[in-house]
Amino acid sequence: MNLEHLLSKEDLQIRDTIREFTKKEIIPRTKELESDYSLVEEVHQKLVDMGVQSDGYPAEYGGGGHSSMTTLGIICEELAKGDAGISYSVGINAGIILEPAVLVKNKAVMDRFIPLFCKGKLAYACIAMTDEVAGADTENPLLQGRGIRTTARLEGDEYVINGSKAWPGHAGLAEVYLTVCTTDPNAGNEGVALIYVPKDTPGLTFGEPEKKMLFKTAINAAVYYDNVRVPKEFRLAGPGVDNNVYRFATAAPRWHSTSIALGTLERAFEIVLDYTGNRMGGFKPVRQHSIVAGMLADMAVGIEMMRAGFYNLSYMLDHLDVYGPPWSDQFISKTAALGVYASDITVEMVNKGAELLGSMAISEEFPYEKYLRDAKELQLWLGGQQINRYRVARGYYDLKNWS
Ligand SMILES: Cc1cc2nc3c(=O)[nH]c(=O)nc-3n(C[C@H](O)[C@H](O)[C@H](O)COP(=O)(O)OP(=O)(O)OC[C@H]3O[C@@H](n4cnc5c(N)ncnc54)[C@H](O)[C@@H]3O)c2cc1C
Repeated sequence: MNLEHLLSKEDLQIRDTIREFTKKEIIPRTKELESDYSLVEEVHQKLVDMGVQSDGYPAEYGGGGHSSMTTLGIICEELAKGDAGISYSVGINAGIILEPAVLVKNKAVMDRFIPLFCKGKLAYACIAMTDEVAGADTENPLLQGRGIRTTARLEGDEYVINGSKAWPGHAGLAEVYLTVCTTDPNAGNEGVALIYVPKDTPGLTFGEPEKKMLFKTAINAAVYYDNVRVPKEFRLAGPGVDNNVYRFATAAPRWHSTSIALGTLERAFEIVLDYTGNRMGGFKPVRQHSIVAGMLADMAVGIEMMRAGFYNLSYMLDHLDVYGPPWSDQFISKTAALGVYASDITVEMVNKGAELLGSMAISEEFPYEKYLRDAKELQLWLGGQQINRYRVARGYYDLKNWS
């Protein structure tokens, strides 16, 4: 599908540059990257040198001043063709975590943290959302903030945070932790507080990196808060606004997740197309059999539909003056709908592609098994597909809230 009309000349150039980078620096080395994190950091540093990390941050802090979801989306899509974990990390570090502070113009947070990402050095950010005990309750919109267990208590000029988070990306590495808390679980949405916590704050500690079968190039670990004190200015905004942004903060990663899904399925399709063009069966290339053509066509349909939805949503996010605040039920429903579709179709189609590779699909000597593994994550995070479907439904009818 030709969507070039939605992309600027600069975006097309960036796409070509990142595509080449992925082909050269990531695709030939996926195995090594999965087993040695220092190599992953080298890749990240090269991307930092190319301006990927700083480009979206405001120019007054040393960033490129080119905040655009379309641009970041293209970058994450292209990187995901090589490695989902690298794409995940780049999206987080390149702006998603500090964007809320820019949106509400929280100067204390911007002054303290944005320069760290614009110095030409790799710097990590983290969103600490999923509570260890509450799991998906933290992200469940029907619970209206009552599922959050990490607490923030105002004492003088500081918030005191207690609780624990499971699986946040970059835990232990990040300079800043956007922490989802509640000032009072009984206050529901009004109690939701988003607080930026600096890395070296006393009482902030981390678990060991999780051992996992997928996204091996990204570090995930628990975050613990034991009377962690931060200046009250590091709270995003206050009651109401924090909840609106949190609603969006639980929806926006689905846009990021879709960019990863798209890159993953595109690369899987390339591999399958190539293999079935060379592998002979019934005295002709496998892909010349009509039953196989139908399966390849299904993979292509998934890519085309996902790409159309993704570029459309990126365009909407870049034009909030036209489409309204991104935390309306309708906006969140659209974001979640794309996320649900993208995750399900990617898992289904990457599995379908595997059938066409026979035993090579699961061989560690062949480049496909990684995409089979990584794709599954897309259905598991951000509250899982069940909570995401609640978000979709709420855009269409009054699916009952907590009452
Ligand atoms: C690679 C990776 C990266 C991650 N990155 C981050 C990150 O950067 N930051 C962060 O905060 N977290 C992160 N997570 C955590 C992730 O978002 C959570 O794992 C996810 O939200 C689900 O929580 P859980 O695993 O505790 O599932 P559970 O809460 O145990 O849920 C299990 C299942 O029950 C379903 N379920 C739960 N409640 C309901 C209900 N009320 N109605 C219907 N179904 C329900 C869920 O949908 C799910 O299918 C990451 C996880 C992984 C694996």
